[in-house]
Amino acid sequence: MKTRAAVLYEMGLERPYAESLPLVVDEITLAPPGPGEVLVEIAAAGLCHSDLSVVDGSRPRVMPMVLGHEASGIVREVGPTGEKAGGNGELVKGQGEQSGFGNQSAPEFKPGDHVVFSWVPLCGRCHLCVMGRGALCEPGGSANIAGTLLNGARRFTDTRSQPAQACNHHLGVSAFSQFTIAAQESLVKIDDTLPLGLAALFGCAVMTGVGAVINTARVEPGSSVAIFGMGGVGLSAVMGARAAGTYPIIAVDRVADKLELARELGATHTINAVENDPVAAIREIGRGGVDYAFESVGNETVLIQAYESTARGGTTITVGLPAPDKMFSVPALGIVAEERTIKGSYMGSCVPRRDIPRFIAMYQAGILPVDKLQTHTLRLEEINVGFDRLAQAQAVRQIIDFSN
Ligand SMILES: [Zn+2]
Ligand SMILES: [Zn+2]
Repeated sequence: MKTRAAVLYEMGLERPYAESLPLVVDEITLAPPGPGEVLVEIAAAGLCHSDLSVVDGSRPRVMPMVLGHEASGIVREVGPTGEKAGGNGELVKGQGEQSGFGNQSAPEFKPGDHVVFSWVPLCGRCHLCVMGRGALCEPGGSANIAGTLLNGARRFTDTRSQPAQACNHHLGVSAFSQFTIAAQESLVKIDDTLPLGLAALFGCAVMTGVGAVINTARVEPGSSVAIFGMGGVGLSAVMGARAAGTYPIIAVDRVADKLELARELGATHTINAVENDPVAAIREIGRGGVDYAFESVGNETVLIQAYESTARGGTTITVGLPAPDKMFSVPALGIVAEERTIKGSYMGSCVPRRDIPRFIAMYQAGILPVDKLQTHTLRLEEINVGFDRLAQAQAVRQIIDFSN
């Protein structure tokens, strides 16, 4: 079949992207889903900073690639199920069919299911998956680096180029396309009463930000928190900190509008890093420093500020993705003598099939006001303008609405 998709052929083009057009929106070919794969019609896809990091080349990926990793959609077709359990085409009711066990080829999804994508496919079998740390799934991570689905397949082909060339998948999702193919392991079924435009946000911003607070840091009620960087992830961390009963919740950014939004979402104090030294300000508010500091900018200098703003015994959680060659250094003695901790948080240390449904339930109960994150709605054709806006910090979450 044909699908209209935004393909990145070359990283690192000059801004403005509205002129250099790094993402080329055109029809490409999509093969049917193979066994264990699902054809999804994308409903909504968010523009995330990690997409921008591929566009600007600071987080290189294999090219060409159908970009996009934060999305919701509707299942349209599931791949062939192959041999039925037992090999004779007959399923014994009450055994394989209902339990799902003993019938490895039974599809998990059916046409019409509403889904959110997980940008790490969880194989469910590697030692990290069985330890409950599926965000670090080894086969999932390898497939993401290779630009393939979990099983190694590529389903997009650019037939306009001579010769036709396969297009890589972005984190097993490739959301900037009307239709995509994903491994079952990349999908989470969701409540189909949730608006799909909103649902997309749970796939990256919410999972990463709320997860960092609840799963990685496991903050205690009453503990003090500072969060650096009020993008979609940092603002989600503010919501998570509020939901977890922490105080104070100190938000740091360089843009006044984002700090105002942080207040709406639960920040009790805000610091504009253009006007004030955030470390000194946090130490004053937090009486010597905070128990938990979160860095969601992806900048090693900000990471040091986050570390310096923690109190004795404090924990620094690093959520943003710095460029691969960046290093940072802090006094080694403090880690011992002041029992300081530095923890990485990838995808909010989430198990998507556990956490996406529970974060959605928290939204529905009014605990996580996720709807406030969306600042713009775009058509796919406006994607380059959208990345200009994101690069200039003029947007929180821009959602491509595929019904447009
Ligand atoms: Zn993201
Ligand atoms: Zn795994």
